[in-house]
Amino acid sequence: MILEGAEIPSGEVIETEICIIGAGAAGITMSLELTGAPFRVAVIEAGGFDYPEDGQPNYQGTRSGIDYADLDACRLRYFGGTTNHWGGYCRSLDSIDFEQRDWIPHSGWPITLDDIKPYYGRATELIQLSPGLFDGEHWSKLAGMPMLPFDPKRFYSGATQIKSTHFGEVYRDAVKASPNVTCYLNCSVVDIVIGEHENLVRELMVVNAAGKRSTFRAKQFVLACGGLENPRMLLNANKVRPNGIGNDHDNVGRYFMEHRVSCPGMVLLSDGTADLSYYRRNTLPSGDYIEGSLHLSADTARAERICNTQFSMEHFDGIRTQGDQSLSKLRDGLKKLISGGGWMHGFEQHLGNIICDIDYVAANIARRVTGDKGNTSIWLLKAEVEQTPNPNSRVTLIDDVDSYGLRRINLNWETSEIDRYSVVRSLDLMGEEMGRLGFGRVKIDMEDNPNAWSRFDSWGFHHAGTTRMSSDPRNGVVDGDCRVHGVGNLHVVGNSVFTTVGTSNPTFTIVSLSVRLASHLKGLLTA
Ligand SMILES: Cc1cc2nc3c(=O)[nH]c(=O)nc-3n(C[C@H](O)[C@H](O)[C@H](O)COP(=O)(O)OP(=O)(O)OC[C@H]3O[C@@H](n4cnc5c(N)ncnc54)[C@H](O)[C@@H]3O)c2cc1C
Repeated sequence: MILEGAEIPSGEVIETEICIIGAGAAGITMSLELTGAPFRVAVIEAGGFDYPEDGQPNYQGTRSGIDYADLDACRLRYFGGTTNHWGGYCRSLDSIDFEQRDWIPHSGWPITLDDIKPYYGRATELIQLSPGLFDGEHWSKLAGMPMLPFDPKRFYSGATQIKSTHFGEVYRDAVKASPNVTCYLNCSVVDIVIGEHENLVRELMVVNAAGKRSTFRAKQFVLACGGLENPRMLLNANKVRPNGIGNDHDNVGRYFMEHRVSCPGMVLLSDGTADLSYYRRNTLPSGDYIEGSLHLSADTARAERICNTQFSMEHFDGIRTQGDQSLSKLRDGLKKLISGGGWMHGFEQHLGNIICDIDYVAANIARRVTGDKGNTSIWLLKAEVEQTPNPNSRVTLIDDVDSYGLRRINLNWETSEIDRYSVVRSLDLMGEEMGRLGFGRVKIDMEDNPNAWSRFDSWGFHHAGTTRMSSDPRNGVVDGDCRVHGVGNLHVVGNSVFTTVGTSNPTFTIVSLSVRLASHLKGLLTA
């Protein structure tokens, strides 16, 4: 069932068994997985079904460190959460991503890939991916495009599937029809109330769009508000625990990780027969949309003592820069406006991107108009490197408050030298392979600046690590079951629980972890 929060009378106390905060990818997945269970589930969602002009500014905050997107533009506060405008790039983490690696401080999840794998089938269904998942051989065959015959001890080919399923639209009816799940729209959780003498969350304080307050009580609570909001909620819940909930060891908000996307160099082909087209975005005859990728092997990452790295490629003249992408967004926004869909979000930012990138935007338009394919022997590399956990890269509360009186956040994003070095070293190795095969060479084109690696630096809009998973409460916020250390009935799910981030886009893993958590809670409540 889905209810409008304004229907909750002021002062109402709602009792349920499981209470989930947030109906984004994680919260909706859990709702679907808990449908039909022999207990009640309440989902509290801050927004309604449409982009919330009034609610979205509650996500505003400040930034320091590496240049980053506005905090109210890099996530969405309504039913479906940020999947309402995500890119749909999906890939699983690699086995090495879970390992404790002595050259990467703070690495090592308390669970392994095998603990999540059983939930991939369901995540694949929910995101509506194809069964071939991320296997390079499968996709290169289907595409009819060869993989590079690199030494598999050094590099292997994989694939990212691209399917931007909007959870809010696709699963609205299923949540509505659920016999035991009730989703309350336009209700913001403003406090998580923990007992003074027992380590249990007692209740949540909730305010609806009409400003009326209500209380939600449950046996188990799940925080699923996204990687920036999860730590914010825990830090703001400081009436009983002055440092916030789950923060006895000052880990909440720390270790913020993104995927730094950069274009650190080019492949210059000298052999006309070499074909790199598998490694760009391709729509296949089957209708699948994939991006082939070249990955450093785990053995080489271990031998070189570097981070996990992954590369894809585009014809140099065909590269879509920030400005070019913003031009597409403006065009879509204009179409929506003309068809009565309202004014687009982020207009000024997109216009700014176009102006800053005007030379590439103009060159790309000219190329499309004339049908010029450009120089097909030059391929621009796109790198996604694992950002290593850095305690100084963090979310903290600031004094400014939102419309509910909750303190906003500052995001200080910092990376580490090994992150950048890992890209450079991987490119050296790729160059050696290109040379060995007689295909050509790799030209590295990186700035010597920790805050700006290349002209096309951007990021994935992934907010990881801020309530990290660890078996030791001193090193993390949640345990291997996503339960907050020291609190018997509070769980956190989403990108924030990632201990390390690998190179893959996170939502496939977020959905898998959410299916896993739903199964765990079902077990607890039906035992
Ligand atoms: C432009 C863009 C492109 C992206 N592309 C990709 C991609 O290609 N691949 C990929 O894997 N990921 C991508 N992402 C990231 C992806 O969208 C997120 O990983 C994913 O949506 C996170 O899911 P979530 O449920 O944890 O959080 P969200 O989807 O952010 O959902 C959180 C929910 O909590 C609600 N909420 C927040 N505060 C409260 C409160 N106080 N009370 C009640 N409810 C609350 C919000 O309204 C929201 O519905 C992209 C993100 C952006 C911005």
